[in-house]
Amino acid sequence: MASNSSNSEKVQFDKIKGKELPQKFNYLKDKVAIVKLDDYQPENIKNALKSIFELLAIKDFFNNKSILLKPNFLAPTKNAFTPIELIRELILILKKKTDIENISVGDSTLTKKFTSITFKRSNIRELCEAESVNLINFFESERVKVIFHNPTYEIEENVYLPKEVIDTDIILNLPKLKTHSGYVYTGAIKNFFGLLGNKMHMHMTHNNKKDFQKMLADIYFAVEETNNTDFPKVLTIMDGVMAMEGKGPRAGKPRKVGVLIAGFNSAAVDIIGYTLMNGNPNDLDAITSLANRTELPVDITKLEIVGETNFEKYIVKNFKKPKVASLLNPSGPEKGLYSKIRRKAVSISIKIKRKKCLLCEECVRHCPAEALIRKDEKILVDRNKCIECFCCGESCPNDAISAKFYLFKILPVLLLVIALGAFAIIWFLIQLITSFF
Ligand code: SF4
Ligand code: SF4
Repeated sequence: MASNSSNSEKVQFDKIKGKELPQKFNYLKDKVAIVKLDDYQPENIKNALKSIFELLAIKDFFNNKSILLKPNFLAPTKNAFTPIELIRELILILKKKTDIENISVGDSTLTKKFTSITFKRSNIRELCEAESVNLINFFESERVKVIFHNPTYEIEENVYLPKEVIDTDIILNLPKLKTHSGYVYTGAIKNFFGLLGNKMHMHMTHNNKKDFQKMLADIYFAVEETNNTDFPKVLTIMDGVMAMEGKGPRAGKPRKVGVLIAGFNSAAVDIIGYTLMNGNPNDLDAITSLANRTELPVDITKLEIVGETNFEKYIVKNFKKPKVASLLNPSGPEKGLYSKIRRKAVSISIKIKRKKCLLCEECVRHCPAEALIRKDEKILVDRNKCIECFCCGESCPNDAISAKFYLFKILPVLLLVIALGAFAIIWFLIQLITSFF
């Protein structure tokens, strides 16, 4: 966990002490812009971004403000992170507004080193240097504990944010529309996890997936608690041009959806995003948790959609969600007694494809539960320790890790059912035959 300096706490408390948060975040509510965008051509991106600003009526939103762009960086695998072209066009638009105080870009992936490598390989470092924009690896940031009022946290009271996040006026949240092999979906709310510097610890302390997802919504509220203006601090612009389906967040396949989705309430953006993936947003606790706390109905028909109001045509009916996570995630699509029994019976099993494994041990270093070890020429998984977070899959440079069903738990039950069935059939046949004599 990041250090908790009393000095840092005091700085933060002084900043927000006595500040009344605007009526239970009502200003965040339900307006979402959907804008068609077919590709990442600079001119097309620029026009789409301008449409978003017009549709949300936020022409003056950036005036005299400091702005921090928070993309979603992961490995520099194609379509696994916020496209550089989108970040570049945003920076160019913002720089043209001469009354903007300061623009920076910041993120963190699994570790400080991994983040630094990702910055280099994704070309964001090059872009920031060319545009004289400050690039922040949040693992290097001073951390400040946020004091919640109201309270607006549900699970995690101790949220430590980078000082740059607290000091900035606006966070431009720039997630990618993607699947996640551990949590089904990763979008606007999940992108706030990249603000934490103690992710491994958070994975371990919130290894129940329901709690983990609610904790993501807590981070969002922590950010809004540090708002020094009367307007929302977070504006999300989600890249849904080329989404990722299947084995996300890193090893999935590109799938065109063809839109940017933008709004002040990240839950509203995620409701649209997950719907376009042909999912039910009510199945995901991060969305329902944030929506409930911002009094937002988790019902796409009740959102105020501007732009592409005919959003149904963008729903990708056969969008491939990660099968295992979808079935096993406690907040996944299955409901009721059957689901409960099933989840007790089977779990996610991490599989290492030997032929693809480079034995680099990145997965071992990034496993928060220390469930992976290298033994001779193999990486072994200790299923008893595994918390199914999929950090290993995110860190693997050669996509050698996948999530499979682990049936061992149910195997004895299955064998018993088969044995009883066989016994019943034999008994029935014996009865039948003996009845003829
Ligand atoms: S990170 Fe991937 S390639 Fe490296 S040791 Fe682990 S499974 Fe093998
Ligand atoms: S083995 Fe992978 S999924 Fe399991 S705890 Fe470690 S990093 Fe998470």
